[in-house]
Amino acid sequence: EKRNPNEPEFLQAVNEVFNSLVPVLVKNPTYIVQGILERLVEPDRTITFRVPWVDDEGKVKVNRGYRIQFNNVIGPYKGGLRFHPSVNASIIKFLGFEQIFKNSLTGQPIGGGKGGSDFDPKGKSDVEIMRFCQSFMTELTNYIGPNKDVPAGDIGVGAKEIGYMFGQYKKLRGVFEAGVLTGKAIGYGGSLGRTEATGYGTVYFVEEMLKDKGLSFDESTVVVSGSGNVSIYAMEKAMELGAKVVACSDSSGYIYHPNGINLSTVKQLKEIDNKRIYEYVLEHPDAVFVEGCSGIWSIPCDIALPCATQNELDIEAAETLLSNGVKAVGEGANMPSTQEAIDIFIDHKVLFGPGKATNAGGVSVSSLEMAQNSSRLAWTREEVDAKLQGIMKEIYRVSMKASEEYGAPGNLVVGANIAGFVKVADAMIAQGVI
Ligand code: NDP
Repeated sequence: EKRNPNEPEFLQAVNEVFNSLVPVLVKNPTYIVQGILERLVEPDRTITFRVPWVDDEGKVKVNRGYRIQFNNVIGPYKGGLRFHPSVNASIIKFLGFEQIFKNSLTGQPIGGGKGGSDFDPKGKSDVEIMRFCQSFMTELTNYIGPNKDVPAGDIGVGAKEIGYMFGQYKKLRGVFEAGVLTGKAIGYGGSLGRTEATGYGTVYFVEEMLKDKGLSFDESTVVVSGSGNVSIYAMEKAMELGAKVVACSDSSGYIYHPNGINLSTVKQLKEIDNKRIYEYVLEHPDAVFVEGCSGIWSIPCDIALPCATQNELDIEAAETLLSNGVKAVGEGANMPSTQEAIDIFIDHKVLFGPGKATNAGGVSVSSLEMAQNSSRLAWTREEVDAKLQGIMKEIYRVSMKASEEYGAPGNLVVGANIAGFVKVADAMIAQGVI
């Protein structure tokens, strides 16, 4: 805490991981002698930079850019860029730290990194967004590359922003290096299935948890927070598997549609028209809009999928979900549940999929995008989806196995942290003290 003041999210993420590593450290004291924990919490490097840009009125604006390169022992740094006014050093650092273990869990050769800016894309014109992305990339170009650090999207960064940044990188470097960014549009090196990957992957993972208990999505009632990239495709896959999704949200509030959310309306509002979620009720008068986000967890459901942002599901929300009989919680977002909420789920044997494992489908398909770029091939949607399903099943299997091996059977927080950690720690030892 002394070393990282004012970084509550980072400390929260480190605490969660380190608490679950106790059994592995007891069994393998080499990790302590080798200073693995001390080395892991110190990023390889943190880059912060000025991002000046000109708005449509001709006024110069300045935002702060971040890229944190945490650990590259198993592959180039890999992790998304977040553009959101709440972005600060602590948030980028917690996301980068988590990414090390998540990327390790995917079984793909990718290290951990993250980045972003406190730029708010909401209400900006397309040209303003382009100018911002170009300025951001003008500096970031100095630090990235297909074998070095490969950024992707996150909150506020989709294919459009990736496109503007890719164009600027290409212009500055004078090379077409498709593998420098993932999440590109299909026409110039993007992978089919990437847009859907995090949401679909979350549902594939939860399906595995349910299967083990003889349950399924079919005929279950599901609540999904958010209405962005992860949320929309989590809803889509859950519906495909027979679930009734009754609620989703954005940062202004949530909609509750007891007859089942109409996903085409949500996609039209959020992916095409760039509108707020409350407009949903104009088309579906039997649905209600409620201001504020946290109330979404008071809606009774069998399965809860928090897919919006960090710390959106707190202890009260967890208690309400529990008293309403929730059977499974799968984190589509990064660290959406507070530590107290996680403890409630684990203590009461609610099936709980931690984000690091559950939402790893996005970065997995990003890695498949890098593989396609390296080989100059493009796989079919079916090929990518089959690989994604295989990866999610394997993440579930290794996390379960680690939870059993280290004395916490069924605790996927412990299992995922340990499985992700061991591979990275062993590679760090193999590569020496550097
Ligand atoms: P998007 O920007 O597409 O969507 C985010 C959604 O969450 C929006 O509906 C947004 O509402 C809502 N939201 C954002 N901030 C808040 C807040 N403070 N309170 C309530 N709601 C909020 O982002 P993604 O779907 O890509 O990302 C969602 C989460 O998933 C993040 O935690 C991200 O790190 C994680 N993730 C994303 C991956 C990906 O592939 N995209 C991969 C792995 C994890 P509004 O529109 O009002 O801002």
